[in-house]
Amino acid sequence: MRFWTFDFEEETILSDDIEPMCDFVENNDIEKIRERVKDPKFICKDCGRAANKKEYLCSPVDL
Ligand SMILES: [Zn+2]
Repeated sequence: MRFWTFDFEEETILSDDIEPMCDFVENNDIEKIRERVKDPKFICKDCGRAANKKEYLCSPVDL
């Protein structure tokens, strides 16, 4: 069933190493967060968090 395949792929992306900071900060310690936010180039327009890669944010815009 296509529906199942779609569901599965979406879950794979979410459980990948790169998860948006918006969730990341709730599940990880300060040292890991620090690596992602140093020299920030993007900011999330939803939650206002900053990161150095846009992959880390759910709604990235240039800082
Ligand atoms: Zn966000």
